[in-house]
Amino acid sequence: MKIYVIGIGLIGGSMALELKELFRDCYVVGVDQSETHLEEALALGIIDEKGSLETLGEADRVILSIPVKESLRLLPTLLDQLNDEALLWDVGSTKEQLCKGVENHSKRDQYLAAHPIAGTEFSGPKAAHLGLFKGKPQILCEAKKTRADLLIWSKTTFRQMGMYLRFMEPKEHDRHMACVSHLSHVSSFMLGKTVLEQEADEQNIFDLAGSGFESTVRLAKSSPDMWAPIFEQNKENVLEILSAYIKNLEDFKNKLAADAIDDLHQQMKHTNQLKTILNGIKHNN
Ligand code: NAP
Repeated sequence: MKIYVIGIGLIGGSMALELKELFRDCYVVGVDQSETHLEEALALGIIDEKGSLETLGEADRVILSIPVKESLRLLPTLLDQLNDEALLWDVGSTKEQLCKGVENHSKRDQYLAAHPIAGTEFSGPKAAHLGLFKGKPQILCEAKKTRADLLIWSKTTFRQMGMYLRFMEPKEHDRHMACVSHLSHVSSFMLGKTVLEQEADEQNIFDLAGSGFESTVRLAKSSPDMWAPIFEQNKENVLEILSAYIKNLEDFKNKLAADAIDDLHQQMKHTNQLKTILNGIKHNN
């Protein structure tokens, strides 16, 4: 089985490693704009060969794992090149524009819109590793638009990678992601920015980071090349959730200024329910 991975970074690289583990006959061709990343992926055994999009027609499976703006631009021409038995799935963090962009494509049924809810703040093939997807959700959007045999193969393969499947419409996906993921990234980036502006002494930031700063600001180490296009594509949803968040921040500030500490205590206690929510939701695969 010949797999083309377009974008051989954290997610594309990790998925290539999983497929190599699952299928003995898996031969991975890497395509990437970064020659350094291709060389690293070769050296790490993530890919077997450096390739180009010109030979995409020979691929049995294609993983599209590049920033979402680039995926939107490239997806229709990539589908044009697929042979009749091939499947392409993307792993991008936004889905609505991408699905809309190919809704009338003659090979729409050879595309699967996927989003693995797995990742780290690191990028590139050196960050790729086996086990990244274990126990994590794989969101599939408009799954019924994918050809039945290709969908069955995908569902089986993702489950073999240890993922559990969730099905959503693209619009719903983007709305939920704005709330649960994209807002956290905005908040982390702006928290990091504020601390950098206010705390001139880097040694203080380092020494005092254990006070909670390091864990809350982890996402601010994420790649702007990946995140700027996500915010751009999910702008309306992110603006809406940001307004709600800013309202809460203003409210916190006003209550603190007014010494309404009991109110703040109540709010924080209510928010503590996250402990239970994040600890134990059961999944039906
Ligand atoms: P990454 O580690 O930075 O890897 C992306 C690779 O694609 C880089 O080598 C990049 O090269 C290359 N690239 C960028 N534009 C390209 C183009 N037009 N043609 C060919 N190669 C190109 O990124 P990632 O974290 O794996 O993210 C990839 C996708 O997964 C994104 O769509 C993201 O939304 C999605 N995703 C990410 C996470 C996460 O936590 N990281 C989780 C779920 C889904 P350069 O370095 O030179 O730009």
